[in-house]
Amino acid sequence: AKAAGGNRYELADADSNARVIARHSLTNGLPAALERGEFFIEYQPLVRLADGTVRGAEALVRWLHPTHGVLGPDQFIPLAEDTGLIVPLGRWVLEQAARQARDWRDAAGGDGDRLRVNVNLSPCQLSHPSLVSDTVAVLEDAGLCPSALCLEVTENDLIGADEDALRPLRQLADLGVDIALDDFGTGYSNLSYLRRLPVSTLKLDRSFTRGMQRAPIDPVDVKIVEGIVSLAHTLDLAVTVEGVETAVQAEYLRGLGCDTAQGWYYARPGPPERLHTLALADAS
Ligand code: C2E
Ligand code: CA
Ligand code: CA
Ligand code: CA
Repeated sequence: AKAAGGNRYELADADSNARVIARHSLTNGLPAALERGEFFIEYQPLVRLADGTVRGAEALVRWLHPTHGVLGPDQFIPLAEDTGLIVPLGRWVLEQAARQARDWRDAAGGDGDRLRVNVNLSPCQLSHPSLVSDTVAVLEDAGLCPSALCLEVTENDLIGADEDALRPLRQLADLGVDIALDDFGTGYSNLSYLRRLPVSTLKLDRSFTRGMQRAPIDPVDVKIVEGIVSLAHTLDLAVTVEGVETAVQAEYLRGLGCDTAQGWYYARPGPPERLHTLALADAS
């Protein structure tokens, strides 16, 4: 038993060494990957629950690694944050997404005005001195109006932020950029704090809607979502729900007054062209 235990220990150790090495080589490869154009963006539609129309899409970055294949953001965003590469990478994502949104709107003609693009912001980007000027420059270059952009910041990144730290977000919000509080409900922000934030949308974390995927529906989850929606609407905030995977869930969440939904039930993240098809289908 002792030998087996020892073996297991060795295995775990070798495994964690391999992870450290993999982490190093991925981290070292990030700058060249950005130069070589190995990153790409998938877009996941956001759907208005009241009538099922496509409101826009969230930009989700991926890395087509030459030897490991497609890596998801959870595998490299933390590394990019540790090394500061997240700032140029995040700017690249913003540029691509803004141009893409411009294309969708042009293609949809007059009906395109409702199409928006959501872009995730890392805490390093939030505290970067050129966030506001960079964002404004990107919007101008792309010819996209500020209200067609939604920046997603997580609740945890804003917890404890004082007025100085919030100023850039407030400036962007004043320009018309929509700010969404991502992963809402997973942090510890107290509710009165919400009123001080320059946010217009709460993105309710997937963990709250999991209990509504299929019968029997979790009554506690229903109560919680009901409470959050009523609070949000009192504060004039829209509610987006993430991780909607079934028709049952979509119907429940619509009934509870959620405004917008995102999830595999509607579409998995995919190439930008697909949004053309979805949004144009709505417009006709
Ligand atoms: P997130 O912002 O919470 O994005 C939603 C995640 O849920 C995405 O994972 C999406 O693919 C996944 N998802 C969507 N619908 C469903 C569903 O119905 N069921 C389930 N189980 N999952 C669903 P993804 O693409 O792996 O992204 C993970 C996280 O990486 C994102 O979480 C976001 O925090 C971060 N991320 C992605 N792109 C960027 C970026 O450009 N910049 C930064 N800073 N972070 C990014
Ligand atoms: Ca997000
Ligand atoms: Ca989220
Ligand atoms: Ca998340």
